[in-house]
Amino acid sequence: MGEEEIHTWRSHVLVLPFPVQSHINPMIQFSKRLASKGLKVTLATTIFISKSMQAEAGPVRIESFSDVYDEGGVKEGGSKNDRIELFKDVGSKYLQELIEKQNRSGYPFKCLLYDSVILWALDIAKKFGLIGAAFYTQSCSVNAIYYNVQKGLLSTPIEGPTISVPGLPLLETHELPSFVYKIDSYPCILSLVLNQFSNIQEADWHFLNTFDKLEDEVVNWMAKQSPTRMIAIGPTVPSMYLDKRVEGDNDYGLHLFTPNSETCMKWLDTKEVGSVVYVSFGSLASLGEDQMEEIAWGLRRSNFYFLWVVRASEENKLPSNFVEEISEKGLVVRWCRQLEVLAHQAVGCFVTHCGWNSTLEGLSLGVPMVAMQQWVDQTTNAKFIEDVWRVGVRAKVDEKGMVRREEVEVCIREVMEGERREEIKRNAVRWKGLAKEAVDEGGSSDTNIEEFVARVLCI
Ligand code: UDP
Repeated sequence: MGEEEIHTWRSHVLVLPFPVQSHINPMIQFSKRLASKGLKVTLATTIFISKSMQAEAGPVRIESFSDVYDEGGVKEGGSKNDRIELFKDVGSKYLQELIEKQNRSGYPFKCLLYDSVILWALDIAKKFGLIGAAFYTQSCSVNAIYYNVQKGLLSTPIEGPTISVPGLPLLETHELPSFVYKIDSYPCILSLVLNQFSNIQEADWHFLNTFDKLEDEVVNWMAKQSPTRMIAIGPTVPSMYLDKRVEGDNDYGLHLFTPNSETCMKWLDTKEVGSVVYVSFGSLASLGEDQMEEIAWGLRRSNFYFLWVVRASEENKLPSNFVEEISEKGLVVRWCRQLEVLAHQAVGCFVTHCGWNSTLEGLSLGVPMVAMQQWVDQTTNAKFIEDVWRVGVRAKVDEKGMVRREEVEVCIREVMEGERREEIKRNAVRWKGLAKEAVDEGGSSDTNIEEFVARVLCI
């Protein structure tokens, strides 16, 4: 690295995301935003993840370390907890070495921006005298629920048909994150999401991947729980998708699966404006075979064109004659560049599992949604899509917890051509405008980011 380049850096931030698709994406986008404001940003991640992003990280430098899973996959007999512990062991050692190495280079890190579920990162920041900044990848509403549980303000298991949480509308039990009302499922992940708040008093900054107008009351309430600045900096959607705001700001997203981009774009190009239903259940959800079948025939019955992302690991759950049966009417791909698809004018509806990134992306690009939440925070996001932001409808589950084909059809029809179509479309356009406004120069999120950058530059 040349002397000249070093001197153009204004300050150096080290970023540490949790190594899964939906945590890395918003942190890469935020890193890029910081870089665009003159900070030097280095992102540390596992070798497996870095292989998918090295070429695409744009202005962000990538450093990687081995966590044994360099080729992906899982270790025979290894549990989720083992993997989290392993990430802690190798990650904390590596991070300290990296910080020491950078100190010797004469241009040290000033700040460690870490995923809020990586609790140990703050100890490392403190040990080396760095600013410790937590990045929360989920919605502020969901964070507020976890915060209340962690602090004992909301006792579990949850009782009562409705639950009151400060800053949020009254929620029915099934609208809480599934970890909270089904308290015994995945204890190691539950403790990750609850423990995000165990050291809330010690972190120097807290970044929320949302924007003020989207979750105003609860953002204000959460900000009061911390003695240090807790600010909304989202949506972390590349500006090129928010009407191409910043020259050269490309989609340096992370794709752990190979996107079938050309096929999708070519197919969408042949379709009329607003005529296609885009369907995706994100990077992790695994649906039952029965549920896949109901969705498949529901899409077919709706008779709209559809583009459905079915990951390779889910393909064998499709009905045997489905792909032949749909012929021209549908396109099934293993992965796509979701933002590119949502931004395409042919897409008129997004059937989503309501992961927070997908929710923010649909909302920021003004695409009406059908919410088919599966688990974790998706249950709460779905409630907001239908009842608070009013940008879509929520599919009803039957007594067996299934969304039936008739319901899939009814929901798609409602969003594509039903009575609520106009209202939903109007709201979607409005939220798209507000999302863009938040990240535009002088908008609420942009101002918050500027405040942080100014503070880092002072030290
Ligand atoms: N995504 C994508 N292509 C696909 C499906 C998903 O690029 O075919 C991206 C999507 O844009 C989002 C992320 O994968 O950024 C999924 O994150 P989300 O929080 O919505 O769901 P999760 O994967 O955590 O369930």
